[in-house]
Parts: sequence; structure tokens; C-alpha cells
Amino acid sequence: MARDTEPSCRKCRREGEKLFLKGARCHTHRCSVERREYAPGDHGASRRVKLSNYGLQLREKQKVKRIYGLLEKQFRLYFAKAVAKKGVTGSILLQFLERRLDNIIYQLGFAVSRNQARQFVNHGLVCLNDKRVNIPSCLVKVNDEVTIKAKGKGQKLIKENIEASQGRTVPEWLSADQDHLKGKVLRLPEREDISFAVNEQLIVELYSR
Ligand code: SF4
Repeated sequence: MARDTEPSCRKCRREGEKLFLKGARCHTHRCSVERREYAPGDHGASRRVKLSNYGLQLREKQKVKRIYGLLEKQFRLYFAKAVAKKGVTGSILLQFLERRLDNIIYQLGFAVSRNQARQFVNHGLVCLNDKRVNIPSCLVKVNDEVTIKAKGKGQKLIKENIEASQGRTVPEWLSADQDHLKGKVLRLPEREDISFAVNEQLIVELYSR
């Protein structure tokens, strides 16, 4: 299976902003974007190029793809699904991405990054409506309940993650019961629930070329 092996911090530096891919480290002075404010690579520090229209569209797509930890093929599939649905394609695309199970685990504060949340799902620590689910891309629906079933070291790690994520707010479309390691989907996410700056229209324009 194809895997993205590019180091997380390099991805942030390529996009020129923090994508919060590494958990606790992202909030410290050890963050690579803070220490090296230039693109990676031999010429990253010396070359500052003005991006073309295409370049801007490409960077916006890459940013969103990297935030959710997706490969190009997976991202394109979400886009195709969004196009097939009635409504504003860019907003529908973001809604699909937000509804992923790994994103829910991250947003509820049980994981410090979406990457870690994906591992929790893959390792069978997550139940959706009382059934174990090991597919991180599974899309949640309204009223779905998510529970973490972890014991011993796993439970300790998740409690530490909850502590570490106290600075983050759980989005309004979710409710979290962190004491019982549970969460519920109250409604589907809207465009204004997206917590990072994004111009999704650029992505739509890129794929419509
Ligand atoms: Fe990105 Fe986090 Fe690395 Fe900073 S520490 S560059 S935010 S992954």
C-alpha cells in the first residue's frame, strides 16, 4: 500500500505554516516552522518565488491534504464525491474530510494529532456505536457515538492526550465526555466549523482545470 513517508515538519515548512502534525512539539519552540522560516531543500532559504495562480491552487490543495494526512488518490476521491453531491463543492469537500473517524478522535481531544488518531483506529481502540471500527476513513453521521476502548498503557496515553489537548476547544458540532472517553456527533460540520484558514475555492479551481 502506498505510504507518505515525507517527514511531518518538512511538510509544514513546504506550506510555510504550522499544520500541527506532531502533537505537543507543535506548540513548543522546537517547532521547525518557527526555527526555520523557509522552504526545505538546498535552495529553500535563498529562493523566494512569487507563486503563479496554479502554484497557489496547488499549495492550498497540498496543505489540506497534508492536514488530514491523505494521499493524492484518496483526496481526489473525496473531491469526486463532493462534486457528485448537490451544493457548494468546496464546503462539501471539507465536510467529508471533517467527518472522518480519525479526525473525530483528534477533535475530541483523545489524540494529539490526526496521525496518532489514525493509529488508534487502526489498532482497534475505537468503537463507533459500540462496534469496533478499524477504518480511519469511516465517515460519521449525526447521533453517532464514538468510544475509546483502551486499557493499561493505552488508556494512560489517552488520558495524557486529553490533558495535553486542554488548550484546544472541541468543535460545536461534537460533544465530548472526556471522563468516560466518549463523544457524540451533534450535527454535521458546517463551513464555519473548519478550524484552520483555507480557501477551498482554489482547490476546486485546481481540479476543474
Ligand atoms: Fe509542523 Fe508541528 Fe513540525 Fe511545527 S512541530 S513544523 S507544526 S509538525
